[in-house]
Amino acid sequence: MTRAAGVALKELAPGNHFYTHSRCFDIQQIAIGNQQQPLVEQWAICGACGHMRRMTELSRPEAEAACPQCGHDRDSNSQLDKGQQRRFIEFSRSQALSYMEHYESLSADRSEERERERYQTIRSFDLTQDAPSGAVGDEKLPFGIEYRASVIMREVNVGFQGEPGVVAFGVDQSAPDTGFRVCGDCGITAIPGKKLDEIQHRRSCSKRRANEKRRQEGRDDLAYDWQALYLYRELNSEAIRLLLPIADDNDVDTLTACIHLGLRLRFEGNPAHLIVTPQIMPDPATRMKRYYLVLMDAVPGGTGYLKTLYQQKDDQQRDGEGILQVMRLARNALETCSCREQDPSRRETDGCYRCIRTYHLQYSAEKISRERGIKLLGKLIEAGEKRLPQESLAAIKPNSLFGSMLEKKFADVLQEFISQQNGQWDQTIIRGSLGFRFSLPGVDRLWELELQPTLGIAQGVMIQSQPDFILRCDDDGIKPIAIFTDGFQYHCHPENRIADDMRKRRAILESGKYHVWSITWDDLDSAKADHVMACQSPVAQRLQQYANAMKAQTRVVPDAKRVIRNGLEQLRAFILTPHAPGWTQLATHAAFFPLQLLSAQRTVTAHALSTALAGWRVGNGIAAIPPNDQGDWVCNYQATLNQDFVTYVTLADAVSLRQNQTFIVGRLGDTESERTGSDFTERWRRFLACLNFFQFVDNFRFWASSETSTGIAPEISLAATTAVSDEWQEVLGKVMPSMRPYVQEMAAANLPSPAGVPVVEHFNPQVDDDVFAELAWLGCKPPVALLAGEQVSFASQWQSQGWKVFTPDELQAHGVNSIIEQILKSITGT
Ligand SMILES: [Zn+2]
Ligand SMILES: [Zn+2]
Ligand SMILES: [Zn+2]
Repeated sequence: MTRAAGVALKELAPGNHFYTHSRCFDIQQIAIGNQQQPLVEQWAICGACGHMRRMTELSRPEAEAACPQCGHDRDSNSQLDKGQQRRFIEFSRSQALSYMEHYESLSADRSEERERERYQTIRSFDLTQDAPSGAVGDEKLPFGIEYRASVIMREVNVGFQGEPGVVAFGVDQSAPDTGFRVCGDCGITAIPGKKLDEIQHRRSCSKRRANEKRRQEGRDDLAYDWQALYLYRELNSEAIRLLLPIADDNDVDTLTACIHLGLRLRFEGNPAHLIVTPQIMPDPATRMKRYYLVLMDAVPGGTGYLKTLYQQKDDQQRDGEGILQVMRLARNALETCSCREQDPSRRETDGCYRCIRTYHLQYSAEKISRERGIKLLGKLIEAGEKRLPQESLAAIKPNSLFGSMLEKKFADVLQEFISQQNGQWDQTIIRGSLGFRFSLPGVDRLWELELQPTLGIAQGVMIQSQPDFILRCDDDGIKPIAIFTDGFQYHCHPENRIADDMRKRRAILESGKYHVWSITWDDLDSAKADHVMACQSPVAQRLQQYANAMKAQTRVVPDAKRVIRNGLEQLRAFILTPHAPGWTQLATHAAFFPLQLLSAQRTVTAHALSTALAGWRVGNGIAAIPPNDQGDWVCNYQATLNQDFVTYVTLADAVSLRQNQTFIVGRLGDTESERTGSDFTERWRRFLACLNFFQFVDNFRFWASSETSTGIAPEISLAATTAVSDEWQEVLGKVMPSMRPYVQEMAAANLPSPAGVPVVEHFNPQVDDDVFAELAWLGCKPPVALLAGEQVSFASQWQSQGWKVFTPDELQAHGVNSIIEQILKSITGT
């Protein structure tokens, strides 16, 4: 069957429902134009968002290199990369498709299905045409509605099924490298299963004529000019976009079907000229996805129907009421459909052809659920009723958006884990906000997951922070866990928040009141769950044996396999076995065991070790440390899977198996060039997994290398091995937890005893009966006091009595050395 070009063009004409119309054909030949009128176009594809930009535009001198739609830039998926620059032909311009077989007789549904079987198609959007002319939304869920007068949707046929995707073409989309292989002379198209040299070229093909001649003369064939082409058609029309509050692909199909159903009800018929299609966009700030539904008018330029729908107002004069109505109609239909009265346990009754299953996306039928639809619509309508005018959907902050999405995903994953364990999971209210409560069978413990708590001075944490969750247990012996869920790009690149992250996490640990946990977006991916993240694999095996031996002695230790995997696996292990001493044993042993082996082979001097550590601390690789038979130290700079952790112990402690004298130090290099390296995501994830694991070890310190230049990174001191003396141990035991880190530093400073050792809670009745110093050095001249909490307000009264007064704020600002120096001065009287 032959089709003239006119037919293909007509198909795009106004009033023609080109989109739902049959699009099934066999491509045998593609007209590629000629030199005077070439039809082949060069486009650059943004691998991140799928945006297509003409090469003629991209090569203009004033053109920005970054993707105009999503800002993606400077890597092998960006538009500037040669591999992303491809040849395209627009259907409607191509004279040919002359051998296109057209299945007019088939229904639209069938043909769409057929096409899916044969070809790989990709939808690409261009939202850069103009700004949205109105948007409403609710940041909290988040949900939003936006109207745009001009959006371009391109449907790209990137080749036959079965060809592997190589060219990145938007979120989770890729195109085969070859696309359609088309003869540059005659336009004949290679088809799967047929070798290139078996293809009959058209009579008009100049190479074919030349080759026929050459064959008669007994010469070899000329090579044909096979070109790789993608075919596309484009629609520029008005559109409504809905920002969806979902965190993964699962609910997209259901919501698409719901909106379609609502439109059908509103229309009282098939809204054939409206297209409802998902759009997934990258969110560079969080490395997650943003999900949208795009409602598009299939009539080029738009009929204004969507504008009217968007501008319909409620009694508060807010836009977007038409869409709310569509959603209410859909929900009502789903709730009242007769299929709902049937036995709900039967899977096939979750929706029927009268409600959600009329939608023609049959191929995703198993992903569509009436009950899920009712739930999702309920949420959207509730959020929609709280909508406020917004500049655009992009104005709905990724923070609030992805904060809540990552939360949801994390909570979902945790809930799944609890139900796999046959535990109980409920929603609850914690301190006035939504939270979750769960328990495991046979364990008399109740856990509570609080969302977005704040930690600060009031909680004994010196640097204020907002973890994503706090997980608390009603068992007082278990410290609450501050959980951070981190997206790579938000934390590492382009902005570097690593130093800030590390500082906050140290402050939480130093309070002595919390564990701190880091879980990355990738950790939620179950495919990577069994990767060892926190040590070398021989150590992992050894750890398993050690844990078994411990268990044989009826000690409580966590799952030795899980404790060294990613943050989520580690957290699961903790929920199953929240016994901190057991964690300490395993973490200590993982660090100590290799040192014990090394102690027989290789010792180093304190001087050589501290020199090497000093260079490494600021971000360099670890320098080779010459072995020395007289050395007192053993060190291991392959403690984990990269050189971000070093462990060391004295030879005496190693041979006496004093495992708890093992030191573990970790520093994450965070220079620009490191952060942009291709291996950095993995390195960062491993570092965080090590933090989760080694936090249970007393002699563990960590920082980001950039913190050394600002002076906030912990110092490495081999001298600090001297155990805290009994006097200081007593001070540490009595002092309030938030002061402990300071006291530890004072204890390490070797202040002369007894004058250098403070009294805890020294009352000063000369000021008032309940006035006291947290720490007081009475033997100093002048005496020194450290005030804390509300007592800080009495500072001037203390001073007027001749005291030297310090406050936690001062220590934080000037360092503990300021008070240490004062004490020394006061003791020596200088
Ligand atoms: Zn882009
Ligand atoms: Zn040819
Ligand atoms: Zn039904």
